[in-house]
Amino acid sequence: MNIALLLARAARAHPHAPALAHGTRVLADHATLQVQVARLAGGLHRLGLKPGDRVALVMKNHPAYHVLLLAIWHAGLVAVPIHSKLHPKELGFIFGNCGAQAVFATANTLGACEEGAPLAPGVRHVIDVDAAGFKQLGAGEPVALAERTDADLAWLFYTSGTTGRPKGVMLSHANLMAMTLNYFVNVDTIAREDCIVHAAPMSHGSGIYILPHLAQAACNVVPESGAFEADEIFALCRHYRGVTMFAAPTMVKRLVDAPSSFEPTGLKAPAGLKTIVYGGGPMYVADIKAALARFGQHFAQIYGQGEAPMTITASGKAIHLDTAHPRYDERLGSVGLPFAGVEVMIADDNDVALPTGEVGEICVRGPVIMQGYWQNEAASNSALRNGWLHTGDVGAFDEEGFLTLKDRSKDLIISGGSNIYPREVEEALLTHALVAEVSVIGRPHPEWGEEVVAFVVARPGAAINAAALDAHCIENIARFKRPKQYRFVDSLPKNETGKVLKTALRLQLD
Ligand code: AMP
Repeated sequence: MNIALLLARAARAHPHAPALAHGTRVLADHATLQVQVARLAGGLHRLGLKPGDRVALVMKNHPAYHVLLLAIWHAGLVAVPIHSKLHPKELGFIFGNCGAQAVFATANTLGACEEGAPLAPGVRHVIDVDAAGFKQLGAGEPVALAERTDADLAWLFYTSGTTGRPKGVMLSHANLMAMTLNYFVNVDTIAREDCIVHAAPMSHGSGIYILPHLAQAACNVVPESGAFEADEIFALCRHYRGVTMFAAPTMVKRLVDAPSSFEPTGLKAPAGLKTIVYGGGPMYVADIKAALARFGQHFAQIYGQGEAPMTITASGKAIHLDTAHPRYDERLGSVGLPFAGVEVMIADDNDVALPTGEVGEICVRGPVIMQGYWQNEAASNSALRNGWLHTGDVGAFDEEGFLTLKDRSKDLIISGGSNIYPREVEEALLTHALVAEVSVIGRPHPEWGEEVVAFVVARPGAAINAAALDAHCIENIARFKRPKQYRFVDSLPKNETGKVLKTALRLQLD
């Protein structure tokens, strides 16, 4: 099934329901959007693109992102959503690797796309969605929905690449449908009157969360800034009702730290906020508690990766609400329970399932798992060996089936023969009142193999020192896990989705 059928159905059942908005302005209902999409699909065919061809999107969040994605699928093409802040050389690599023939850009990315395109000889068109040419492309005759099989590719997602060259994760129409249906079982409900605000990059999780909302004929809202601005988000949550948004943990932190303009109403959160789905990186217990205290019970978590989009485990609102549970803190520190539609196994080095409580690699299988990496058989075979996706994440199940992530296997620190999970040390340091952010890595040590080093960002104006943090660790974690060195820094290096770049921190070690 072509995933764009979701729009055709919404247009038939709820033609006049709002489908797409820019800020508070509704741009199209579902019937209008359906016609725009079918016309733009015709324009894409006129560019010479044929079913299966790749189309790159290097755009900040923009209403045209929504229309283009649906038009690409309607036309039977494959969307290659790329983060808008990549370097021209990185863009050139991805264009060349996926063989993109057309690239769509926004004003802020056009220069980089034009610089990157010559590095990939296949690129024939670089189109600015704010220019007249884009309007003309969508002004012709509408075309019929292209036939697509379940296995045909819909979304070629380049892994964010905290190490090495990015690889193209191949997601099919059926993978996206599996992601969509799983949302309703384990994350949240969506009503027709609800909406999603795309403040996080649409090139990542927020973009595929278009689909559950489309399935319910709810509205997709793109903030006018095209970015993650706390004030604008709060204002949109006052204007709309039933607002969901996806946010990386660093974004949630920004909302928590933002001064609020809604508190005079006496409400904890702006009136229309329904759900913030967070995920994509570790959420520390201290941070989610601060978010719950600030905004109330509006949070659900997902754990996924490009290769299993948004769908490995989840903890819904009920888990965040159950404060009386004796293991409440452990549950908050976990990534929740496996989604209904996937199998999750903790495996040893031979892909044999380990008993409850034991730490091993997290492996996943089910209809949401990628088809493989684009034209990279070796990497595909390695990631998908024995029928399981090997996530590269390490974790353990508890008796009730909650999964706790330890760390990416490559981030594990082995010191004096003992395993030290950076996350445990980070969690402990973050409970210190003067610590704003922290990241822990291992440094080679001649005697111990590795030793623990912590990079610490202090709260603004806080006078903090290593002795105080050491004393705090002694109170909270085993002595062998304590950092041997603290580096005080103004900020931590992060990639475009807000993940801390431990590779960049390692380069700072002497
Ligand atoms: P990406 O493919 O860029 O989305 O990165 C996926 C990786 O982010 C996963 O393999 C995990 O290491 C991490 N990740 C995703 N969701 C969570 C979560 N809820 N908690 C902790 N780490 C997460």
